[in-house]
Amino acid sequence: MTSDQGDLTRHLVNNSPEFMAVLRGPDHVFELANRAYFELVGNRALIGKPFREVLPELEAYGIFEELDEVFRTGVGKMRRTVATSLRLTGEQPPQQLYIETNRIPYFEEDGSVGGVMVYGRDVTDQTLTEQSLRDAQHRSQRTMDQLLMFLNATDEGYYVVDCEGVVTTCNNQFLKMLGFDRHDEIMNRHLHEVIHHTHADGSPYPRSECPIYQTARSGKAAYVPDELFFRRDGSSLAVQYHVYPIWDGKELQGALCIFRDITQRKRDEAALLESAQRSKSLFEQHSDAIFSVDTQGRILSANPSAQKLTGYSESELHQCPAARYFSQNDDQRIRNLFAVAFNHILDDKTLHSLQAALLSKDGKQIEVEVTNVPILVGTQCVGVYLIMRDVTESLQHARSIKHLATHDTLTGLANRALLYERLGHAIDYRRQSLIGLLFLDLNRFKVINDSLGHDKGDLLLQILARRFRAVMREGDTIARLGGDEFVVLVEECQSLQNIVDVVEKIQAAVNESFDLDGHQAHVSTSIGAAVFPRDGQDVGTLMRHADLAMYEAKSQGAPHFRFFNAELNRKAMQRMQAESDLRQALTKQQLILLYQPIVAIPSRNIIGVEALIRWQHPERGILAPTDFIGLAEEIGMIDEIGNWTLLQACRQNRCWQSEGLKPVKIAVNLSVNQLKSPGFAQTLERTLTQTGLEPQWLELEITESVLMQNFQASSAMLDAIRALGVSVSIDDFGTGYSSLSYLQKLPIDTLKIDRSFIDDVTEDTDNAMIVAATITLAHNLGLNVVAEGVTKPEQVSFLTSNHCTVAQGYLFSLPLSANDLHAYLSS
Ligand code: C2E
Ligand code: CA
Ligand code: CA
Repeated sequence: MTSDQGDLTRHLVNNSPEFMAVLRGPDHVFELANRAYFELVGNRALIGKPFREVLPELEAYGIFEELDEVFRTGVGKMRRTVATSLRLTGEQPPQQLYIETNRIPYFEEDGSVGGVMVYGRDVTDQTLTEQSLRDAQHRSQRTMDQLLMFLNATDEGYYVVDCEGVVTTCNNQFLKMLGFDRHDEIMNRHLHEVIHHTHADGSPYPRSECPIYQTARSGKAAYVPDELFFRRDGSSLAVQYHVYPIWDGKELQGALCIFRDITQRKRDEAALLESAQRSKSLFEQHSDAIFSVDTQGRILSANPSAQKLTGYSESELHQCPAARYFSQNDDQRIRNLFAVAFNHILDDKTLHSLQAALLSKDGKQIEVEVTNVPILVGTQCVGVYLIMRDVTESLQHARSIKHLATHDTLTGLANRALLYERLGHAIDYRRQSLIGLLFLDLNRFKVINDSLGHDKGDLLLQILARRFRAVMREGDTIARLGGDEFVVLVEECQSLQNIVDVVEKIQAAVNESFDLDGHQAHVSTSIGAAVFPRDGQDVGTLMRHADLAMYEAKSQGAPHFRFFNAELNRKAMQRMQAESDLRQALTKQQLILLYQPIVAIPSRNIIGVEALIRWQHPERGILAPTDFIGLAEEIGMIDEIGNWTLLQACRQNRCWQSEGLKPVKIAVNLSVNQLKSPGFAQTLERTLTQTGLEPQWLELEITESVLMQNFQASSAMLDAIRALGVSVSIDDFGTGYSSLSYLQKLPIDTLKIDRSFIDDVTEDTDNAMIVAATITLAHNLGLNVVAEGVTKPEQVSFLTSNHCTVAQGYLFSLPLSANDLHAYLSS
């Protein structure tokens, strides 16, 4: 190389845009570097210095090793691109640089490696351009992928046809919706080979009119709202689809069809339509009047029933405030009803209803039940349905039922339920005044009922009710509790005198005579009164006390009036106690029988005994029958007690006989109830069988007054008794005022002359005559005669001289216990 050539080369090398350097030896000592290299590395002092020393920062890029390798192996490394973030010059900014470097060895004459030549260039711009190109490609690929993913993921099917209608693309959804498995079953086939489609109703149309095909040919987009596509298996699905032309610049490439399965939507629409129609027909046909009302309270629509009810046409009803159709009293209540619906509907979902009076077009008031049903759209109340039912009739019905439930049907007076309600109310709301509660019971009413018949009895009660209503004040309650029992509730009395005044008015009303269809009748009344608060603080107590006072008044016989007092209550309590004691007397074996001898006079030989009952009361001592037989009759215990007495007497008599005593007749007293009891003859027969007592040793005593009460039935019963072989005596004879002529008709054996005649038979000549006559008469009729209550020997003389041979009385013996009588009999 000439020096000129050498200069030229140096010049070229120095000005080359590529950087160049020559590194010598294993330490890569810089022997030469051009300007570009100097600039690249930041104009450092390089020459004569090892690479590692001057460019230590390049170790990080593996350059030292590469240089070592090239030197060691003699094999170059070409086009190695290194990205560095630091310009080696240290200039700012430290832009990312891409440096492409070639490292080739150079050899000494002996063939050994002398060093490494390094050259290369800054490829940053080129690299960045390439990189951004690659990124763009990458991005568009990704977009494509996403698009495909999206198209495959959507519910819509799509496919693309070319201008001839041949399918070039479709998505997975297309395959799924039309029943294909793979894309290649579709691709490159004419659309009409793979997609059969018709009008929504299934009717076909010519292929030439196919909108997809037309778009592919004409370039005009199309929308088809409702058609049928057929799947591969022939089944159909309802679809809607869009068809878009595909252009490449100005050249039509084909068409894209995007379709959607609308089967479910159509079903929903059909269901919606049906439900709307159902609601409409409910509205139209409902027998209740229905108004739809907006939030201003204006009527938006009214069904035919509403028009019928109000008499207004729908157009008349329109736009008027609904509240206007109600009576003034109800106007505000209806508005309130709306307010509830509009304001509180969200927290209160219950229906609201009330009763109101609707005004019809012809001015009639119609009682309606109004129910308020909010019209909700989402959670918002946009109005209400007012549903109204004419309840005029059912209200009347309810009122009459209420009346029936609270009134006595015969008289129309209040019944017990209403009386209690009013009394309770009066007590709760009493002011300073007194409340009088009057119990009244008619005397002699039963006689009228029995003699004139129940019709007349009812008539009397009705007339009386009318009279009561006429004399009582408006606010007072007159109730009939049943039968001939009435109660009058007198409210707001200032004094007891007020109550007495009312009592007098009532008595006057009752005492007036009654014209019962031509029959004149008279009744009177016994009245008892209890006064609140004096005689009781509650309904039950007041009723009971008034009742007690009435009984007290009644027990005095004549028409009478009594105020309740504590003494009555005490008596009533005692009686209640006695009642409960008596119910237990039998089971607690507190009842016993005493036996009073009946003797022959003048021999005084015992020929019979009368069984007389006693109650050994645990507190009150031994009680006589007069103390409890009446009570037993009232509380229905007399049969039980009577049967026990009969059994006990028969058993005792049989016992004495089996103990070897001389047989005597035992007399047992019968109560009126026993005689009336239809099963009595059987009981009697059973008792005899059970005790083994022969009937001839038993006599039943029946008082004269009992016999006379019902002569027919009594004599039938007496026949039955005597048919069993048991004899019968008339007890207390002379007290019942029976006509002596009856005596011969009665099937009896003995007359027992009442004690009251015997008592003063020796002093009172009248009685003496009666007794003598009775004895004669009895004997003439073939009856035995017993004189009761003989206490004095003179009486015995009188009786003996008048041929009465049997007597009973303390003169001979008191009633004795069974043991004492045993002793008496054996003596
Ligand atoms: P009664 O049938 O007239 O019985 C006679 C009553 O006169 C008995 O009174 C007897 O103790 C009494 N008495 C007897 N002799 C004399 C006398 O010399 N002077 C006086 N002052 N009284 C005498 P008791 O036992 O108190 O019986 C009263 C009434 O009770 C009886 O009158 C009878 O009607 C009834 N009675 C008694 N036991 C029974 C019974 O087991 N069943 C029924 N249903 N009534 C009975
Ligand atoms: Ca008797
Ligand atoms: Ca008697």
